[in-house]
Amino acid sequence: MLKNNLGYPRVGALRELKKASEQYWAGLSSRDELFAVARKLRVGNWKTQADAGIDLIPCNDFSFYDQVLDTSLMLGVIPERYTPVLTQNKANTEIDLYFAMARGYQKDGLDITAMEMTKWFDTNYHYIVPEFVQNQQFRLFSEKIFDEFTLAKQHTGTTPKPVLIGPVSYLLLGKEKQAGFNRINLIKKVVPVYIEVLKRLKEYGAVWVQMDEPFLALDLTSEEKEAFVYAYKEISKSCPDLKLLLTTYFESLQDNIALAVNLPVSALHIDLVRAPKQLDEVLTLLPEKLSLSLGVVDGRNIWKNDYIRSLSHLKKAIALLGAGRVMIAPSCSLLHTPFDLDLETSINPEIKNWMAFAKQKLNEVNELAQIIEGNNQLLQNNLQAISSRNLSKLIHKQDIKQRTAAITDADAQRISTFGARQKIQQQRFKLPLYPTTTIGSFPQTNDIRSLRARLKKGELSADQYDAEIEKATIDAIRWQEEIGLDVLVHGEFERNDMVEYFGERLDGFLFTKNGWVQSYGSRCVKPPIIYGDVSRPADMTVRWSSFAQANTDRLMKGMLTGPVTILQWSFVRDDQPRSETTYQIALAIRDEVVALEKAGIKVIQIDEPAIREGLPLRKKDWQAYLHWAVRAFRISASGVRDETQIHTHMCYSEFNDIIGNIADMDADVITIETSRSQMELLAAFSDFKYPNEIGPGVYDIHSPRVPTVEEMVSLLEKASVLLPPANLWVNPDCGLKTRKWPETQTALINMVQAAKQLRQLV
Ligand code: GLN
Ligand code: ZN
Repeated sequence: MLKNNLGYPRVGALRELKKASEQYWAGLSSRDELFAVARKLRVGNWKTQADAGIDLIPCNDFSFYDQVLDTSLMLGVIPERYTPVLTQNKANTEIDLYFAMARGYQKDGLDITAMEMTKWFDTNYHYIVPEFVQNQQFRLFSEKIFDEFTLAKQHTGTTPKPVLIGPVSYLLLGKEKQAGFNRINLIKKVVPVYIEVLKRLKEYGAVWVQMDEPFLALDLTSEEKEAFVYAYKEISKSCPDLKLLLTTYFESLQDNIALAVNLPVSALHIDLVRAPKQLDEVLTLLPEKLSLSLGVVDGRNIWKNDYIRSLSHLKKAIALLGAGRVMIAPSCSLLHTPFDLDLETSINPEIKNWMAFAKQKLNEVNELAQIIEGNNQLLQNNLQAISSRNLSKLIHKQDIKQRTAAITDADAQRISTFGARQKIQQQRFKLPLYPTTTIGSFPQTNDIRSLRARLKKGELSADQYDAEIEKATIDAIRWQEEIGLDVLVHGEFERNDMVEYFGERLDGFLFTKNGWVQSYGSRCVKPPIIYGDVSRPADMTVRWSSFAQANTDRLMKGMLTGPVTILQWSFVRDDQPRSETTYQIALAIRDEVVALEKAGIKVIQIDEPAIREGLPLRKKDWQAYLHWAVRAFRISASGVRDETQIHTHMCYSEFNDIIGNIADMDADVITIETSRSQMELLAAFSDFKYPNEIGPGVYDIHSPRVPTVEEMVSLLEKASVLLPPANLWVNPDCGLKTRKWPETQTALINMVQAAKQLRQLV
């Protein structure tokens, strides 16, 4: 029985890659230094996997920024606007082109925008969206996959297994940049390049190649299904002696089972954590020549594997197929889990004994194999940990369970309709047309971050820390007043992260020291772990918001993270439905909203950027999810009076198919990310005649590039055609915490200027 791993986290246990890339981007280190760090990380990961007894060790799962962008570079899918990056500055190489595509390029007299970024299925990982044109050409461009295979061969002691995003999923991940064609029809053009890559891998000595085709677990059109058949038939014709491992994850194959098992590949991987029920049908339909990789160890969460459950799947498959055709694996790439639980020295040992990170999960794969071979002691140890969790008093709190059970429809309803509230708020606030605001955070400079580090180390007292944060907050307020923003924010300097900050103040959460997970590029998040019933022992943000409001005559927006986002960006309990946990969080946020109102805060933003990413991958499951997600938001927002203005904020979202639900959230103002799509995303609101107020982002905060006044004016003009100007706000796409001050200042000054110009036009 082969022990298989699909992918490993690549940023480094201590975020070494993040630090190395940021140094390189800042011009503080050389390309060779960056490559040396990357090499060390890869070699270390391979060794860890070899030590854990993994037979099929992945390579090319490493990426400097994103594996989809890697694939675009491999296939030569490089939008024309990036050509000058290499021609204008001869010192640039492939890696600079690559980073330019990811981050935009404002150097050497060039000013090129970054590529669009969006969420990877229902995870909090973001990938760079491939851009296709009608006459798209593909050619083998980047040799990264071969270099990595060669390096891996030297270091794994076995033949490594290259990982590729399969051709159909690659196309589906992308976007048509011109009208008049469907990207799936590019399949005939892209497959030859895949064949070229696979042939070369074979020459280098590859035996197994992993083809990730997660779209097989999603709804597919008949054209897309045909593309699968076509692609894999062509590939198997040209590469008959390469063993392809077709991997699916995050959902079940459902109506695509027959399609998947009949593709001419050597093995199929299915996710039995998310979708255990598919096993029976897959086993029934599996042709004789196909092996099956069972994803039994959860690649999306941090809980210890329940061996009894996994063994039942494994034994069933072995009984039918024989051990030779069965592989044990994590459910998906371990990219979505933190590195190593051993590094966590301060988690309550009772709880820690219920957990497993990437490294421990490799060991679970290994232990499951050993148990099947007869090692009963390993099973006993696991049984003990699992039952200790089921019975623990740390988890179950009766009063919280009762309060969520007693929630009524009235709790999820503002007092008056939006129309009535809008009038009341207009009279109260007297804001100009096109009011300007920002999304909440201002640059988290090294100075601010080091304050927190020093507080942790005990070098600063809590009072000293607060005084410094107060200073930063006041500076930010003065500066916002100066440039003429209308609704101010306090800057979120006191927050490490928008979810962590709240998790730290809620009961039922726990935190890690090094539990980093990649979010996009060099950005990592350290998701809180929700292990028990959630409650709010004290005010969480009132101190900072009222301090900020006391220091200005303008409106100061209170800033909270919404219940769905807190859930979505945490590792959650797997012992109760997600909805139940979300309602518990919603009540805690509701109490905070009411406390802010009571403290004199008139505008309160409840960020819900993660609502969309929580959507189930299959459309038929959407409404059930949206029902409880929107309800949770409404519960959190509806404890206040009509005159209190509730904002919400969402980024990276397409709204077309959920616009009714977004409207149903009934926020007085919603701010969204739209600048990278040139306001394309606003069409959904316009078509729906979205009634409430809305701030379409006019400035892409993911890149250091400073937008011009004209650019923003033109975006706002577009928006004004689509929606009633009286409902429009002016703001960036998202918070500014990842930016530096100089670019932030110029950009916001330009933004206020743009709003002023618009006001003169009407
Ligand atoms: N208020 C948060 C900030 O400004 C929102 C961040 C987000 O939506 N991702 O940072
Ligand atoms: Zn955002």
